[in-house]
Amino acid sequence: MENGSGKRWGIRGNKEVKSASGVTMRSVLDALMSNLNASDKRGLIPMGHGDPSSFPSFRTTLDAENAIVRALQSADFNCYSSTVGILPARRAIAEYLSQDLPYKLSPEDIYLTLGGTHAIEIILTALNNPGANILLPKPGYPDYEAWAALGHLEVRHFDLLPEKNWELDLESIEALADENTVAMVIINPGNPCGNVYSYELLEKVAKMARKLGIFVIADEVYDHLVFGKKPFVPMGVFGSMVPVFTIGSISKRWIVPGWRLGWIATNDPNGVLHKSGIVDCIIGCLNVSSSPVTFIQAALPQILGETKEFFFSKIKNLLRQAADICYDRVKEIRCFDCPQKPEGSMFIMVKLNWSLLEDIDSDLDFCLKLANEESVIVLPGIVVGMSNWLRITFAIESSSLEDGLQRIKDFCQRHSKKQ
Ligand SMILES: *Cc1c(COP(=O)(O)O)cnc(C)c1O
Repeated sequence: MENGSGKRWGIRGNKEVKSASGVTMRSVLDALMSNLNASDKRGLIPMGHGDPSSFPSFRTTLDAENAIVRALQSADFNCYSSTVGILPARRAIAEYLSQDLPYKLSPEDIYLTLGGTHAIEIILTALNNPGANILLPKPGYPDYEAWAALGHLEVRHFDLLPEKNWELDLESIEALADENTVAMVIINPGNPCGNVYSYELLEKVAKMARKLGIFVIADEVYDHLVFGKKPFVPMGVFGSMVPVFTIGSISKRWIVPGWRLGWIATNDPNGVLHKSGIVDCIIGCLNVSSSPVTFIQAALPQILGETKEFFFSKIKNLLRQAADICYDRVKEIRCFDCPQKPEGSMFIMVKLNWSLLEDIDSDLDFCLKLANEESVIVLPGIVVGMSNWLRITFAIESSSLEDGLQRIKDFCQRHSKKQ
């Protein structure tokens, strides 16, 4: 195309953004949504992403809503935030996290971010240096891969083992790491696997990371959303053994992902991160970035401090019941293998048994056809690094859950190999 002065517009978009963002959660979910059949009058059942905020049973607590209203109407928070977040919010997060730790975090250990997503971006940028590599779980959360790709940070994957309750394969991690490895990521409670790690396992991770001399990035955006036998243990418990960056957010526990409030906490009682200069890098990244909305920050002390236990236990009970139903129904579907019942977060992973299916050629194809024929959205495993699997979220209203699972079963029957 001519630009009017005889020259051609030669500007193209950033190619790397295109390839790094090609397999994110959002891009694939958008593709599935555009494959829906508009003439299906039954309505859409969204079991693709973990955002139950639109379902009445999962509405956030009134305490949190009131805290926002009060902060907004005070007119004290129409200002820019400071780079790292306003002090009352940092203090509230430090106190909230310290309840589960053997030492106390100070407000200086807390950096506010625009949700957990922004925390991932900041940490990966701060740790990046030419030649560096990072160890990521497979399956995992694709934003890590995308931000690593954009920053040319080399990714090495270690497996989570389905037959061992999605534990990490510690031996393979040792074999992957070298002198250029900066950190490893663990997601606990797990997305996409719905697993929860025990104290003993996390201790082994800490010992190994210490031996390798690498930091641990603990993605705990599903903190406390556990409903099996194991309690939630934050990785920060082992902060004196190995420096831990904890990624947190109110998106999942309070079911307000649209409020965009998350944080990075440095669990580092020995001050290793300060001495290494990484904290300065984090602050540097935040300096050129945007901060969470100031009045939402201002509401945090009330949100974290005054939410009643009743709300948390209601949500956990809903998730437990939904996980039970989902696991039982999924077990009845012949073309699925499901190694593990979820114990936390909002997801279950199921494996497709190709020997029983016909006219479907990949997990993505399964999801595209399911969207089209049954108006049910589930996430193809390829997005989380596991082709031939599906990730299903059960965090939806229970009537929709039963309906959605029945439609998936009907779909599988229709596409089973005829004997
Ligand atoms: C949802 C999620 C995030 C992002 O959190 P937001 O607060 O929604 O930005 C990060 N990591 C994992 C594992 C998640 O599931």
